[in-house]
Amino acid sequence: MTTAGNSQTHGTIFEMADSPSFIGPYLVRKVDGYDRLRDFVNIISFNANIKNRFTVEKLIEHTSYVEDFVGSLCKFVGEKVPGLRINEIIRRGSYYDNAKVMSPDEYDFMPILALSYDDAVNVKDPPKECSFAARGYKLININPDNLKEEIPRGSWRKNKDGECQLDLKVLMILLHIVKDFVIQHSKFREELLEDPNAVYDEGVTSMQQFLHGTCIMLRMWAPLCTTDIDLCFCIEQKNQSDERRVLVGDCINGGGCGYCTLKGRSTPGSVDHWTESFFDISPDQHLYILDTMHKKLFVTLKFLSYLLNKRLYDILEGDISIQRELSSYVYKMILLHHQHSCQSTNIGICFETIVELYFNRSTKNDADTVTYSPKGKEEIVKIPDIYFPKRTVVDIESEHLLEFVLLLWIQRHVKHNTNTTWWNDLLDKDFPNNVKQGDLLQTLLDTLKWVIQFQDPRTDAPKVNPRYTWIHDDNVKTVVALSD
Ligand SMILES: [Zn+2]
Ligand SMILES: [Zn+2]
Repeated sequence: MTTAGNSQTHGTIFEMADSPSFIGPYLVRKVDGYDRLRDFVNIISFNANIKNRFTVEKLIEHTSYVEDFVGSLCKFVGEKVPGLRINEIIRRGSYYDNAKVMSPDEYDFMPILALSYDDAVNVKDPPKECSFAARGYKLININPDNLKEEIPRGSWRKNKDGECQLDLKVLMILLHIVKDFVIQHSKFREELLEDPNAVYDEGVTSMQQFLHGTCIMLRMWAPLCTTDIDLCFCIEQKNQSDERRVLVGDCINGGGCGYCTLKGRSTPGSVDHWTESFFDISPDQHLYILDTMHKKLFVTLKFLSYLLNKRLYDILEGDISIQRELSSYVYKMILLHHQHSCQSTNIGICFETIVELYFNRSTKNDADTVTYSPKGKEEIVKIPDIYFPKRTVVDIESEHLLEFVLLLWIQRHVKHNTNTTWWNDLLDKDFPNNVKQGDLLQTLLDTLKWVIQFQDPRTDAPKVNPRYTWIHDDNVKTVVALSD
């Protein structure tokens, strides 16, 4: 029998002397940096998600208000121009993905034009000589004389072979109809303010006078908060398979493949190529869906991006015009690619992997000093669209520096600092005004200001040190080196 002493030491009542011995590593459970990172992701993703910040009833009331407005708007479009009638409206984006952070202030919709199902409309692949061929782009041929309902002149142009092809100008025509609706059915405010934190009075709506990427952008009063609405009018592809695909007009990719030229013109000025997009993907296709663990990281990254873009820009003096935020779609693509080859069971490790996409990490002489420097031009990470691998969603480069330095600060300070009280300060509605001199978070603000100063394009701007050092609780030092 075991002695009392043994029992206390080993916590066992069994006699061990004659038992076979164990080999292999002994699993020791202790809170290390990665566990703290995992806890951070769990806490932030829970608290930042709107489903944990508002009651279901409030969210339903808010969303119904927005959807009613968009529904009436789409009905109005068909009444005004029957040829541009809307058949269905696809709900899209973070709100419907259960990944919206802080407030329900953005909704994405894709109204599908009934024109899609007209026999006189035919979607076709660009010819193989076209530089957009096999990358998820299509041409939309129409036969205007055979359309069941007329569409406005200017909605199509003829290519060099005399075929009529649907033109992105149709989106501008839609924009003007949407504007008519907004003027007639709400208190129209002429300009869409640049201020992302603008608060609208009840019944007020404004809109961008141009297309924002593929979208018409509105901003409106709604019960819980001023809300942005992206309307991406699209054509559905009559399809062979179960998957439903739509075509959206992307003004950036629209111009010039150099091959599909317009009638009577040589280059430049090609017909418009429409961008394919999936909207109905069967759930067994895990490639396209984030698992629970990576979804939490997605929400956390969206929250940090929100902090930078909606809270921190205001206090960062200097020129921030070079900076561009990473969209929610880009974060999703980054994580889907990562998830595909991820072997980790700790989301903290994944967080570090994502941050390090942007940086080269080096540990010199002194093992406790880790230096991060942005990757060079030749090492730039291209994030392909998971649905269309030949299409690059984004090149992660210098215009994303500020956002990645923010992610790096968070990741390193969670990993190497035992103090966790500042996590709540990030979630506080007063952040960053709640940060006091001497707080750990002050070094985050100072670091971001330093990045902006370093990037200041003015030749007479004061020179700043290209290296910035953070000293952590565990004596690890992180050096951010913007140049050698
Ligand atoms: Zn082309
Ligand atoms: Zn992972």
